Amino acid sequence: MSWKIYSLDQIRALAKFSMENPDTFWRDKANYITWFRQPEKILEGEPPYEKWFVGGTTNISYNAIDRHLPDKKDKVAFYWTNEKLDSFRSISFQDLYQEVNKAAYVLSELGVKKGDTVSMLMPNIPEAVYFSLASHRLGAILIIHYVGLSEETLAYRFNDCGSKVLIVASKTFRNGNEIRIKDFVDKVLESHTTPIQKVLAVPRGYSDFNVNGKRDVVYDDVKPKGKVYVKPVEVEANEPATVYYTSGTTGRPKGLYHSNGGYVIALNWAFKAIFNPTENDVWWTVSELGWPVWPMANLYTIPVMGIPGVLFEGYVGYKRDLFSRVIERYNVSLVWSSTTTLYTLRSLGEESVKGGDTSSLRMILNTGEPLNVGAWMWLNQNLPHVKIADAYWMTEHLSPVGATPYGIGEIPFKAGSAGIQFPGGTYFLIVDDEGKPLPPKQKGYIVLKPLNPALAKMWNDPNYEKIKEKYWSRFPGYFYTGDYGYVDEDGYLFVLGRADDVIRAEGERIGTLEVESVIVTHPNVAEAAVIGQGGNIIAFVVPRQGVEVGDTLRNDIKNYCRNAGYIVDKVVFVKRLPKTKSGKIMRRLLKAILANENPGDISTLDDMRIMEELKEALKSLS
Ligand code: ATP
Ligand code: MG
Repeated sequence: MSWKIYSLDQIRALAKFSMENPDTFWRDKANYITWFRQPEKILEGEPPYEKWFVGGTTNISYNAIDRHLPDKKDKVAFYWTNEKLDSFRSISFQDLYQEVNKAAYVLSELGVKKGDTVSMLMPNIPEAVYFSLASHRLGAILIIHYVGLSEETLAYRFNDCGSKVLIVASKTFRNGNEIRIKDFVDKVLESHTTPIQKVLAVPRGYSDFNVNGKRDVVYDDVKPKGKVYVKPVEVEANEPATVYYTSGTTGRPKGLYHSNGGYVIALNWAFKAIFNPTENDVWWTVSELGWPVWPMANLYTIPVMGIPGVLFEGYVGYKRDLFSRVIERYNVSLVWSSTTTLYTLRSLGEESVKGGDTSSLRMILNTGEPLNVGAWMWLNQNLPHVKIADAYWMTEHLSPVGATPYGIGEIPFKAGSAGIQFPGGTYFLIVDDEGKPLPPKQKGYIVLKPLNPALAKMWNDPNYEKIKEKYWSRFPGYFYTGDYGYVDEDGYLFVLGRADDVIRAEGERIGTLEVESVIVTHPNVAEAAVIGQGGNIIAFVVPRQGVEVGDTLRNDIKNYCRNAGYIVDKVVFVKRLPKTKSGKIMRRLLKAILANENPGDISTLDDMRIMEELKEALKSLS
């Protein structure tokens, strides 16, 4: 494939062009997918009411499978392995075609039809891809939930999205532990009222789960033995394809939906610009299901582009060298990872990236949180042949806002920055409390002028009231991200943390990342989170494995910070930080525990046991 490589100035010009000429910019990108009926109009109306590729009809499953069959039927669509690396599968596009048709046949027998919502609770296995694409084949709306959400949260989400059908796997393994998904679902459905009428269970190995006669269907019992064909249902570009819930880092998760047309096109453009994948690439996305990252890669980009993806079931930190072993096994060239995973690699040590042969790897993309300079330098030192790319985006806007689009250009990387204005119609700017744009280098709120087909709409919000209130009211005329940061003189965006978490100390406003990135430069520190309390800075620090904690380390950390211009009042050593399911630090929980207040909605907290751990650790303060 020939691909134009732009200079930094040309990318800036392209970004400007995309903002001023959305019709021209997106018209040729509409060809990334195959349409049953061509769109009549590229863009109609303005955010939050806008519509993209109006009147065009398509189908995600057709784009991810059927259209590749003439030239790719024997090529690998997906590899699968697990954390023990003791089981391997490879799935060709032909296999994918047959499996998705069978899954779609069974779903339609269960009554699923266009516009219905289908819920899923699955580990990272090929069947998760089959049933997701099968749902899209029928024109249904897919909602993938995290394994490990609490009973109440799941029941709430089933009701919120109104699914009658739920697809589950009987169990999974993570970090050596068996997680019995079906048993858990039984408990949820027995003790809560939900709209779920049918549970389709995919057995793993042997059938060691209960089958509730009226409600449950075991996939192996109903899966067609021979070939079946289910015609892909035509869906208009703006109809919802999937609902995501935000990570819940700053408050109650919000439900948002993305479309069948524009969303897929925007993602395919984003990844051409960031990775520029070719057929020789192998792409591994290190993510749980339930975080938008998994479907963005494994449903809406990798198979739509027709390149091979890797599905990995389990936890990359399960064994020290696992990350590099998976790369070696499949000659992985592209990795998309959460920030928290990159920190895990660093805390596991060199073996994580050197234990296996990683010479095939050419790029790692960070998403989720700002990647601190220390982690970036560590990756750079240990993987000198690998480019570390960054993309700053959010569930509400699943096209990069700021990024390093190495796929189209030579972009100097600045450690600690998410990159430059991404050429995708949307632009970011920094404003003060009154919404007045600030000059370079001044810290403020990150707001957007969004004009991109991956701008979400809120679920259950037919009159756009919720979306206007939540995102468009704080700074009239702008979409508010809730993030804090600045832009440098070259137009690079630095995200310094969440606006809610900004610390006010000695008349200054300090983003959490500013102090945290100093603390993690200490060689004995694995991770850190800081919060403000009445003008003081309190640091929660996770020491590296095997490090002795005590006053020496505590004073060292304070000195590091003082030398960088920050006065840290207290240092609390903890075994781990409170994180969301998607691995983001929940600083509001630290604040609440310290102040002995109600932490609010913590439904996405990864492990509730951390509450006790933190209370225990805080005793050392008194
Ligand atoms: P909630 O909105 O429920 O509080 P959340 O904001 O964490 O949760 P997501 O939509 O998953 O939910 O995450 C988007 C946020 O993640 C962004 O607003 C930003 O704070 C952060 N983020 C994502 N990618 C990056 C990145 N590359 N660099 C810096 N921050 C990032
Ligand atoms: Mg958010």
